[in-house]
Amino acid sequence: MRILVNGIDLIRLLKEISLKTKIKSYIVGGVVRDFLLGVKNLDIDVVVEGDGIEFAYILLSYLKGDIVVYEAFRTATLSYHNFSIDIISARKEYYECPAALPTIEFSNIYDDMARRDFTINALAYDVMEGKILDYFNGLEDLKKGVIRVLHSKSFIDDPTRIFRAIRYATRYSFEIEEKTHNLMKESIENIRLLSADRIRNELLLVLKEDKAKEMIEKIISYGIDKVIFDEITLNTQNLDTVYTNIEVELYRFLVLFYYLKEKDINEIEKKLRINKIYFKALKDLFFLREQLNCQNKNIRKIRETIDKTKEEVLRAIEVMEGEKAEKIIKGKLTVRGKDIKNLGLPPSPLYGELLDKVFEAKINGIITTGEEEIEFLKRLIEKLKKGE
Ligand code: ATP
Repeated sequence: MRILVNGIDLIRLLKEISLKTKIKSYIVGGVVRDFLLGVKNLDIDVVVEGDGIEFAYILLSYLKGDIVVYEAFRTATLSYHNFSIDIISARKEYYECPAALPTIEFSNIYDDMARRDFTINALAYDVMEGKILDYFNGLEDLKKGVIRVLHSKSFIDDPTRIFRAIRYATRYSFEIEEKTHNLMKESIENIRLLSADRIRNELLLVLKEDKAKEMIEKIISYGIDKVIFDEITLNTQNLDTVYTNIEVELYRFLVLFYYLKEKDINEIEKKLRINKIYFKALKDLFFLREQLNCQNKNIRKIRETIDKTKEEVLRAIEVMEGEKAEKIIKGKLTVRGKDIKNLGLPPSPLYGELLDKVFEAKINGIITTGEEEIEFLKRLIEKLKKGE
């Protein structure tokens, strides 16, 4: 196995540090899986049998990146160019209550692999020995394309693994092994026990994936959406569209909840504990969607919402409503109050009315560019001055 981080041979470096410190280190998890599958992965997990923070500081002296330490787990994350390297102190986990976070105890590589979700994620590369440690037959499952839990209580201990199983199976076009599949189905109700934060994290991880649409369809086919959202309907149409320069998970989140009812906004907030940006985006989405389909449009509020809302909201409406939305969105103005001031009109409530008129002219295709907005404004102001 060979992993180059910005041209540096990470395995050689880890081996050197392990020899020097007598702290054994292992490359683990997703990066081993993806290396074997020939997939690029910039998130590297290293498990050490000893103090992860001490080891991370030594690694930092070679790599000169940024470091963040997590005292409680004696773990650190090193950011180096595009790479993120987690240095983890090997640990054992005990689940005292289903779906709660586990109690931990520092331990060895075997125990650290035994706490993992699936066999394909429980592979460790021993840098000293130069070989893969495969305690749970992960290599064979990887070859066969199978997602398999390590033990039958896995989904009870941690129902987030249900989302993870769907994510990996879909991402790599793998099968969820039959027993795992049955265990998963039996644990769907346990998703209720997860905190809102954990559910939201899983949902956003799904929405970031290239095959998000397929994953959400599977989530629905397992009835997971009903467990989390009760009556709120999820929309899967257009979930696979991609735009650059926007936050894909926010955009897809809005597409997912496109058909929400007003009362659902607070429900979603409660069930997922979304942040203020997501909450506001949902509200704007709801407002604009309603306005598009209503005869007496509130031009002022549409203009202000389009002006201030996140780009993701506009993209979501556009993809769902097509031309009807484009017509309104293209009305987004570049002129501001200060432009009116520069044209010699003292600040007054007239500003809002003028901007509304420019906005309407833009929606109706009378003007299109920013320069035309100014020209249009000038004409409006001249008329005003003449008292027309
Ligand atoms: P991805 O490509 O999705 O990021 P990854 O394997 O790197 O895949 P992470 O979420 O970064 O995924 O987790 C790193 C490793 O930690 C996983 O490979 C897995 O071994 C372990 N892990 C993560 N979440 C869980 C969980 N809920 N239960 C058990 N093990 C987990």
